Amino acid sequence: MSIDLKIKQLAKDYAAEVVANRRYLHTNPELSFQEYNTAKFVAQKLKDMGLTPQEGIANTGVVALIEGRNPSSKVIGLRADMDALPIFEKNDVPYKSQNEGVMHACGHDAHTSSLLGTAKILYQLKNEFEGTVKLVFQPAEEKAPGGASIMIKEGVLENPSPASMLGQHVAPNVPVGKIGFREGMYMASTDEIYMTIKGKGGHGAMPDQLIDPVLIASHVIVSLQQIISRNRKPANPSVLSFGRFIADGVTNVIPNEVTIQGTFRCMDEEWREDGLRRMKKMAEGITEAMGGVCEFEIVKGYPFLKNHPELTRRIKAEATAYMGAENIIDLDLWMAGEDFAFYSQVVDSCFYRLGTRNEARGIVSGVHTPTFDIDEAALEIGPGLMSWLAVRELAM
Ligand SMILES: [Zn+2]
Ligand SMILES: [Zn+2]
Repeated sequence: MSIDLKIKQLAKDYAAEVVANRRYLHTNPELSFQEYNTAKFVAQKLKDMGLTPQEGIANTGVVALIEGRNPSSKVIGLRADMDALPIFEKNDVPYKSQNEGVMHACGHDAHTSSLLGTAKILYQLKNEFEGTVKLVFQPAEEKAPGGASIMIKEGVLENPSPASMLGQHVAPNVPVGKIGFREGMYMASTDEIYMTIKGKGGHGAMPDQLIDPVLIASHVIVSLQQIISRNRKPANPSVLSFGRFIADGVTNVIPNEVTIQGTFRCMDEEWREDGLRRMKKMAEGITEAMGGVCEFEIVKGYPFLKNHPELTRRIKAEATAYMGAENIIDLDLWMAGEDFAFYSQVVDSCFYRLGTRNEARGIVSGVHTPTFDIDEAALEIGPGLMSWLAVRELAM
């Protein structure tokens, strides 16, 4: 039997177990950096397979190696994130979250169970591929500074060093059975901006005696958008959004200060630094010119996620061979963030989407919503496809 057929058969054989694991994780979700039970569960499953997992990387991360023939010839890293979100689940399903207020609403339960399934398939086939598969079960995708950045600091990309990293993410906007790819820039960097604009409050009838922080803040908001329209290269996708603008006065009372919070997202690390520098300078300059003081704070988030073009082209071609061309789709840019981006900044990486939507069954809710769910048919496709991609890429 050819290896693709063997993988497809094993994916089918293990599908029920992958679903059971996903349901266990979904029932018992844990927040970012607190994935203690999840990590224990993952490590035990890996031990049951005959692997020797390394635990405690980034506190709750788990890493294991599957060595094929000639294990030092090439290494590929496969990553799953394990954390859940602070959301009250509203689904009425047997596997509903039993940890009230915490929910796997981003599909990381599916990623973790899928990678466990991939591990099981690849361990079965370890005499049939060259090289080493590095399984990376990572905590805290959802929370800054991101589990990926800590795993990298603690050496997950060394001893042995993967030549490339693959990650998959469920996609409630992609029908189950389909896989989405995008070469090059795919997801955005995510930085947070916190401003406090201080003036001098007082009676609204006597503006000449005040320094009006509401008017200053209004100028600042409008001017910062001009950095996006005038200083950004038109080819660099960027978003600047402010969701919080608190001027706590009343009709005739001007407050002493205004607080503003927003997010800056882009897909170019140089422009990211330049844009932030310009925003700080402009906000402080305008405020100063109008007599106030601006405290401008940046909280750095994730870098932008770039899918290595040649790697992604190869992976997409192999996915096409495995799934059929009719099941491969091209993805749009997405200005959301994802901490897989940290890997993509330092090693050739490909992050692709696993379709989980099923309109006929009403499985359509977006990630990070209390009614998010997946079509579990994806849990046969995900492990099989990732196993195939790993084997093929190791052979390159
Ligand atoms: Zn998420
Ligand atoms: Zn996610």
